Parts: sequence; C-alpha cells; structure tokens
Amino acid sequence: MKYLVESFMQLLGRAPTKPEKDDITPAAQEIHFYKRGQKLDMDEVRRLHDEKQGKNKWLKRRWATLLFVNLLFVVSYYFDIQLLEGALTASRFLGFHMADLNSALQVMLAFKTVLINLLIGTVTVFVLWFLVGGRSFCSWVCPYHLLSEWAEKIHLWLAQKKLVKDIPFHRAIRSVFYVIFALLAFATGYTVFEAISPTGIVSRAIIYGPSLALLWVLFLLLFEIFVSRRAWCRYVCPIGITYGVVGLLSPMRVTYVLEDCKHEGDCRKVCLVPHVLDVTIKGRATDTRVPVGADCTRCGMCVDVCPTNSLRYEFSWLEQLK
Ligand code: SF4
Ligand code: SF4
Repeated sequence: MKYLVESFMQLLGRAPTKPEKDDITPAAQEIHFYKRGQKLDMDEVRRLHDEKQGKNKWLKRRWATLLFVNLLFVVSYYFDIQLLEGALTASRFLGFHMADLNSALQVMLAFKTVLINLLIGTVTVFVLWFLVGGRSFCSWVCPYHLLSEWAEKIHLWLAQKKLVKDIPFHRAIRSVFYVIFALLAFATGYTVFEAISPTGIVSRAIIYGPSLALLWVLFLLLFEIFVSRRAWCRYVCPIGITYGVVGLLSPMRVTYVLEDCKHEGDCRKVCLVPHVLDVTIKGRATDTRVPVGADCTRCGMCVDVCPTNSLRYEFSWLEQLK
C-alpha cells in the first residue's frame, strides 16, 4: 500500500523520499550493509558494458513496434481495409472500438455526457494498457515520443559540446496542466488539449497527410533541443498521468534487483522519468526486488544500459507462478 501511495504521489510530481530504516526489509538491509564500504570500480563497469550482449535490444523492438502500429493506421486508410481505422485518439481495431483514455475523458468533459461507444472503447483500452503496463502507450505507441527521442539525442550532443544547457522545471507542473486541460474542456465544451497535443497532430499527419499544426510540433521539438530536455512529456502532457494511473497496478513492469547493482547510475542518465530510478541509488531500495514506479514508460532504455542486468522486464502474474 505504501508503495502505491508513493508511486502515485511521484506521478503527480512529488520528489522520491528516502526510506526509513523500518521500511527496508532485513534482506535488503543486509545487502546495503555489505555494499556500504564498497567503492565504485568504473573499470569493472566498463568491462561489464562491453561484455553485455544484445545492445539496444529493447530500443530496436520498441521502435519497430511503434512504427508498425502507426503504419497499420496508414495501410488501413489507404487500402480501405477495416484493420485499424481512425487515428490514435479514437480508432477501431478489427471492428472493436478503441478510444485513447485521455481523449475520451476530454470528450466526456466537453460534452458533459457519457457516450456509450466511447465508454466501450475506453474500457477496452483500459484493460489492454493495464495488461501491458500503462505508460507503455507513451514509449511503444505515441509517435511524438519517437520524434522527441531523436530531438533528445541532438540535445545531448549539443549539451556535451556545451552549446546548450538543460533547463529543468518542477514535475508537478504536469499535474497543474492536467487540471487546466480538464477544466478548459468542461468550461468551453471544446477539447482544447486535443488541438495542441503533438500525439494527435503527428498521428493524423502520418495517416491523412501534413497540416499546419505540424509547425507547433516543430516548435516543441526545437524547445526540447535548445531549452529543456523532453519538456512536453516531462512537464506538460496529461496523457502520461492518465496512463500512469492505469499502470499503477499493472502486472507488466520493470523490476529492480538490488544484489548485483553497481549503483553507477547509468540507468538514470537515459531515463525520461529518472525519479522512478531513485531506487537504484545506494541505500534506497526497500527490498531485494522492487518494481519501479508507475511513471515508468516501460521503454527498456534502462534495461538495455544496465551493465549487471539489475533492471529487467517482468510480468508479475507469471513471477508469482514460479
Ligand atoms: S507523455 Fe504524452 S507525448 Fe510523451 S510519450 Fe507519453 S503520450 Fe506521448
Ligand atoms: S525506468 Fe527504465 S523502462 Fe522505465 S522509463 Fe525509465 S528507462 Fe524507461
């Protein structure tokens, strides 16, 4: 229960807290005690990195999935086959209604009514994303995520050359935006967020062709390159919060295993939401295995980069069967 509350509060923007001694299991305390005097051996970390097989395995799988899903919309539209019709915000897969949870919420607030088709689509999508990990929608499906990842690579390259500096904001701003977009939909009867959401704009552009709205997406990407790394996803997009809540209890998650971790922090450097990986800081894990928080997008970047395989994908229902 404590884990759920902590995970939810972090999703809303609270900084992770250091656990009290009483919150840490005896087994984890023993490992922390053993590691306390150990110095970080960077040569060993480098050697483990070099030895690691299957570099960027999850990144390749994720990009392939993201492109496949988005191209499925295009193929269905151009060849007029009823495979995956519509766009990411509202679609039909093999005739089943699907509705993006955040868009459905905005529509219901704007029209102040519960539309049955929308409700069916919402429940279907809720169950689907609950099973596959909530925010996995972000990293495995959202086309803006992919553009933003590429922009991030340029940002990091420029930062390394000391040409730009990341300006971070408080993560709680995203919760404030969540409320603002909900209130705007309710008060104006118009889904304001949908008009400016790069997720919908890029999805529609891929399927139906480019529009002027892409200039807004370009502005966001330039902002992320020159001003603030991954700003839209980190500090604005309410979709992340909605799917984060769906993923709070999801069986599909990334799990941290304390024992072999070197605590060198490579995982936190690549993560879109590094606060969920504070558990990897020396002395922070409350157990020998800890699921990372609901804000995790299940992108697998930390799984790819971890030199000791201390971060791994798990489907908790299967783990319980073992
Ligand atoms: S936070 Fe929003 S824009 Fe970012 S990946 Fe998730 S849905 Fe896409
Ligand atoms: S914790 Fe790992 S899987 Fe989750 S968002 Fe961060 S890098 Fe991706």
